[in-house]
Amino acid sequence: MTMRYELLAHRILERAATQFPKKQIITRVGEGTHRYSYADMFTRTARLGNGLRELGVGPGDRVGTFAWNTYRHLEAYFAPPTIGAVVHTINIRLAADDIAYIINHAGDKVLLIDPDLTPLIEAIADRLTTVQHYVILGEPGDATMTLPGAVCYETLLAGASPEYRPAEVDEYTTMGLCYTSATTGLPKGVAYSHRAVYLHSLTSAMTDMFSLSERDRVMAVVPMFHANCWGLPYTATLVGADQIFPGVRPDPQVICELVEREGVTLSAGVPTIWIGVLDYLERSGVEHNLSTLRQVVSGGSALPVAVLQAYRDRLGVEMTHAYGMTEATPLISVNRRRSWLDGLSAEEQLELCAKQGVVAPGIEMRLVDENGAEAAWDGEQRGELWFRGPWLAGEYVDDERSAETFVDGWYHSGDIASIDSDGYIHIADRVKDMVKSGGEWISSVDLESAIMAHPDVLEAAVIAVPHPQWQERPLACVVTRSEASAPLTKETILDFITPRFARWWLPDEVVFMEEIPKTSVGKFDKKALRERFEHHG
Ligand code: ADP
Repeated sequence: MTMRYELLAHRILERAATQFPKKQIITRVGEGTHRYSYADMFTRTARLGNGLRELGVGPGDRVGTFAWNTYRHLEAYFAPPTIGAVVHTINIRLAADDIAYIINHAGDKVLLIDPDLTPLIEAIADRLTTVQHYVILGEPGDATMTLPGAVCYETLLAGASPEYRPAEVDEYTTMGLCYTSATTGLPKGVAYSHRAVYLHSLTSAMTDMFSLSERDRVMAVVPMFHANCWGLPYTATLVGADQIFPGVRPDPQVICELVEREGVTLSAGVPTIWIGVLDYLERSGVEHNLSTLRQVVSGGSALPVAVLQAYRDRLGVEMTHAYGMTEATPLISVNRRRSWLDGLSAEEQLELCAKQGVVAPGIEMRLVDENGAEAAWDGEQRGELWFRGPWLAGEYVDDERSAETFVDGWYHSGDIASIDSDGYIHIADRVKDMVKSGGEWISSVDLESAIMAHPDVLEAAVIAVPHPQWQERPLACVVTRSEASAPLTKETILDFITPRFARWWLPDEVVFMEEIPKTSVGKFDKKALRERFEHHG
């Protein structure tokens, strides 16, 4: 027998502090930059743990964060787990009602809040039933201390002991909590164990996953409140990589400047971020040296093939497509370029790289058709993806909706996909976004990816609109690039995509818009679009 050894999240931090004490953590703060080392961060995290203890936080208690991507948020990723408590990252872009629901449902005892976000919490403070302390993530002078009994973060740390006293807990103890965004109904809570986060970090660092090493300089643009920032703060710490945090409201210019100045090697975000960066580079004409970028990870929704191609051909940057969800800590698959792509044509390589890739070691997958039968892995048959594995949730936190999604030990993703004989996943759609036309399914994702391949199209989202005869028909919402020579028309779009689809797949309507509405995590907001075009046609 090997020794029993608990896989605890704070072992990740201990490793960085002892093996990589001088490696850097860099944060954009206002016009300036904050820099410190893992050694500094470790001491401050120990202080935060003790400061939280002084505020009455004990094992199992929840500490909410309401914050941007910064070094203080990184400290908050580690300090509660270190003392046996739970870090709960709250999505700052949700509606006030959802934020209040989440905080109360989680039972957060302490909230750590970025100063500029304080008004959002003030507006709901009288409805928060469990919060005992508001801690403002700022300096004594600059914090907005208007919340009842507000404590200044730096004052808390200065007064707390730097002694590192980690809690020895069972590896299945909950250390993290994140709610899915409320696309339908109330948000659902997902709890993460120490073990899940530890194994997720080890696996996502692998060469055929994010391929992360101590040499990397990692900048997560994906918010730290979106699905654990895809695990990057933990994984980057585990390998001792430098980390760059883009701070308050990073825009494409900020992202490019940080990549250039700090020599970022890996960055990660949803496709709309990368579309925005590309658009900024083309519109502004500003030259940025992005040559250090070895990898741009795109995830959260399907990566249009045109974006992949533009990064490769125009910027010389490799994009890696990642797929996952809040329920999976969040990584399911990463599409690293496989050896067997080497002999293929550039076009074939692009098609394969735009798929969602092969599941991570440890994840088991099934493809189940409408009748509950296994669908073949032939690249054609479609079914719903089911998963299980060491970092998959087994339920939603205190939520009776769990029974619909977690069945007999399998997580039912609600994602419709095909899988090819090499195990590559290709997501066709979320069940709720598919267009059901005359009893057949049309993939909104395939249509929008094809439309976004048009050089004058910036963004495209396809939704189902009710139809008296066919039940539903596709409608395309399109944003024209500002530098397009002539306005786009419905005919141009349809002519462009006609060769790729059966006639009955083509959208009945093409609507041109200034901007596609986005969800709280930056995805195309199809729910908002469906509501807007409900009575269309
Ligand atoms: P939300 O439900 O708020 O969007 P999540 O990020 O947890 O929050 O959503 C996970 C879902 O996002 C997946 O189930 C899938 O439908 C979609 N998704 C995530 N990554 C990809 C991807 N690479 N390609 C296509 N869809 C994706």
